Amino acid sequence: MMNRCARCAEFASITDVLGYAWCVTHAYRAEVSAWGKAHHFPDLKCFPFAIGPGEYLWKIAVGVGKDDFLYMALAAIEDRENNEDL
Ligand SMILES: [Zn+2]
Repeated sequence: MMNRCARCAEFASITDVLGYAWCVTHAYRAEVSAWGKAHHFPDLKCFPFAIGPGEYLWKIAVGVGKDDFLYMALAAIEDRENNEDL
């Protein structure tokens, strides 16, 4: 059985840690949810927005957030990863 992407009508290529199915275009959201889970769904600032804290708020953000917002979240995650490397 093929799943459909939670964001569009395309066939999903992956399922993320929150249980959402994503197509190739929206697969980047799986990176956001995977990072959130690995860090216990923290409060993530991505000015002028924010996600969380908590799995419930992350699930809403990753599931229904617009692409612009999720790209900001992904950038905020990359910033945090880079700072942790210093
Ligand atoms: Zn999609």
